[in-house]
Amino acid sequence: MGVIQPLQLGRYPTPVRRCGPADAHGGELWIKDDGGTAPIYGGNKVRKLEYVLAAARARGARRIVTVGAGGSHHVLATTLYARATGMATAAVLWPQPWSTHAEETLRAALGAGLEPFAVGSRAAAPFAVACVLSRGDYFVPPGGSSRTGALGYLAAVRELAQQIRSREAPEPDAIVVPFGSGGTAAGILAGVVREGLKSRVLAVDVAIGWAAGVALVLALARGAVRADGGAATVRLLARRITVERRYLGAGYGYPTTVGTRATEHARALGLSLDPTYTAKTFAAALDLARQSPEQVVLYWHTLSTRPLEPLLADAPSALPLALARLLPVVTTARS
Ligand SMILES: *Cc1c(COP(=O)(O)O)cnc(C)c1O
Repeated sequence: MGVIQPLQLGRYPTPVRRCGPADAHGGELWIKDDGGTAPIYGGNKVRKLEYVLAAARARGARRIVTVGAGGSHHVLATTLYARATGMATAAVLWPQPWSTHAEETLRAALGAGLEPFAVGSRAAAPFAVACVLSRGDYFVPPGGSSRTGALGYLAAVRELAQQIRSREAPEPDAIVVPFGSGGTAAGILAGVVREGLKSRVLAVDVAIGWAAGVALVLALARGAVRADGGAATVRLLARRITVERRYLGAGYGYPTTVGTRATEHARALGLSLDPTYTAKTFAAALDLARQSPEQVVLYWHTLSTRPLEPLLADAPSALPLALARLLPVVTTARS
């Protein structure tokens, strides 16, 4: 694989700052805020897509084919930025619990020109993808989490290391990040090792069963380190990451009571969270800061802070009937 020249979709560096007053959490909690990575739609998918879409374009792709849950941020981000790069997007989608946010995300993707293919379960997705794929397509795995996508977060840690050198932030003892499809955690792990930071990565599982667990993250991280011209053994990488599974609750997209409490705490600090990814992850970061007041904990914020309203202007005002089953209303809420 040759060296990929990433597209310029975002605006960097993203801010790093202390998260609220020093004593608000019992320990020192910092935030690396990727909410506003790009003007029309931010969050963590932008950094991954800069590499993934560059690779697709280098292959001469005309259409991206990808997969995700009904309200996938990855599918929306891919549809928007592939279009900006001159490519169409099709996605195989499976059900997730309904929420206003999930429904708006799907409607915004449709408004941006997404070609949707609904399936009844995640297990049915690979077969559907095989049926959809044709010449000129470029397949992007869940969440954009290939080793190419992980390079976006390797670069993000390089950016953070520069901010640490220029004394905008202290070197974190722990970096707390969601673990969905794993590309973000893998890229951060790869970056920490490449930059020689002392930080360990706490990857908060928000989607058990999506990825083959820590093995996938380690493989992606090693691939990213290699693609960046370095070398790291799986054993060395494994020592720097912990997967935290206690915040998942009933599963992907199901809110938890500790997540809801963390969301209220965050709101008081001017930070808006979602129930699927950031509420559970911020809850873990808060607990770590409270339990280890002597440590610097850095919470990496991955949720787009850009309003969806402008994107909904071009969207259907309600979901087409065939897609409504992608977002079933469920009432389970367990901690
Ligand atoms: C997709 C997403 C994640 C998960 O990132 P992965 O690289 O898939 O693990 C975390 N937070 C938000 C807000 C996301 O949209």
